[in-house]
Amino acid sequence: MIRTDENIGKTPERNTLVIKLDRDRPDPEKLSFCANVIKRGGLVCFPTETVYGLGASAFDPEAVKNIFRAKGRPSDNPLIVHIDSSDKLPLVCSGGPEQLEKLDLLSKAYWPGPLTVITDRDPAVPDIVSCGLPTVGIRMPDNLIARELIRLSGVPIAAPSANLSGKPSPSTAEHVIADLFGRVDVIIDGGPCDVGVESTVLDITGDVPQILRPGAVTLEDVVRVLGKGELPDWKKSPKEGESPRSPGLKYTHYSPDAEVRIYDGKDVDVIRMAVAREAERLTAEGVKTGVFTTLEGAEYYDGDKLTVIAAGTRDDLITVTHGLYAALREFDKRGAEVVLAEAFPQEGVGNALMNRLFRAAGGCVINADQQN
Ligand code: AMP
Ligand code: MG
Repeated sequence: MIRTDENIGKTPERNTLVIKLDRDRPDPEKLSFCANVIKRGGLVCFPTETVYGLGASAFDPEAVKNIFRAKGRPSDNPLIVHIDSSDKLPLVCSGGPEQLEKLDLLSKAYWPGPLTVITDRDPAVPDIVSCGLPTVGIRMPDNLIARELIRLSGVPIAAPSANLSGKPSPSTAEHVIADLFGRVDVIIDGGPCDVGVESTVLDITGDVPQILRPGAVTLEDVVRVLGKGELPDWKKSPKEGESPRSPGLKYTHYSPDAEVRIYDGKDVDVIRMAVAREAERLTAEGVKTGVFTTLEGAEYYDGDKLTVIAAGTRDDLITVTHGLYAALREFDKRGAEVVLAEAFPQEGVGNALMNRLFRAAGGCVINADQQN
């Protein structure tokens, strides 16, 4: 039994089996074993191209209830239903011809892939999956292990991200083990995830398709396929009494223990100057300080005094999203109290990156232009 810092001294609720699988050629027998766990109402964590998921049969309300329990997830935060082929759509979606036409266009363009589509929910999908909403979020993941697991299980798999509620989503099996060992039946280790942040959530139940959560499939991608689409300003919090369109988004998931502050500005050099100066000031006060930057930025900061984590390159923001959650967990591991993060342009996948960073920072954005 693997013991992590989090579960030392705790009695495990379940005997967790960690099963390593090759992402390109997963062992069919081991996969069948995992699928049987799903069929019997168990909990299996599995890799997808976005982040790891914590799955159970979408048609088994008791099993789905256990997902909420294992994560400590609030009961009003709906799960995504994962399918392995478009043939399974009629099992979960009851949308009319307009929704089906949009779904068809989207699935041809972006499935399998990091796009969750919100449609009308078929009554066969239990209430608990969607937390009573009349809609359901559906996705076909682009990861062979995930799709084979769903296919062999013979049922769609309901799954949120495989982290404890409040922790950053897991982009490696080690993150899943740290959070959920002893709480689930199986953790499949299929290596690191490609995208590293959660899927785009797109609601197609209205006239104009709305992105409820930005991800690797961008607004431009949606408009190209459907002719229209909107990405509402996710920096605005819903007004008092108004319920958010995507229930999960009202929670400050994604946050590490450290206090995160984002430094934004017109020019990246100005941002770095402000970050370096504040980092020096905090360090002089005895505050353990971390800096989130990219490979190009690392040399600007004093790596001897600071915890500097460089993820990817500004030339290709998907490489930065890839390393974001691992970096947030690493800052906590190294005991950073305050993390100063460089901001990124809010274009394309930069929207997904800044959305997650913004939420990790609890909305704390400092204008570097006014600091110098
Ligand atoms: P997670 O997989 O942990 O990122 O959580 C799934 C997220 O998908 C939720 O937090 C919601 O933001 C979104 N979602 C799932 N189902 C629905 C739905 N029926 N309506 C709106 N948003 C949904
Ligand atoms: Mg999540």
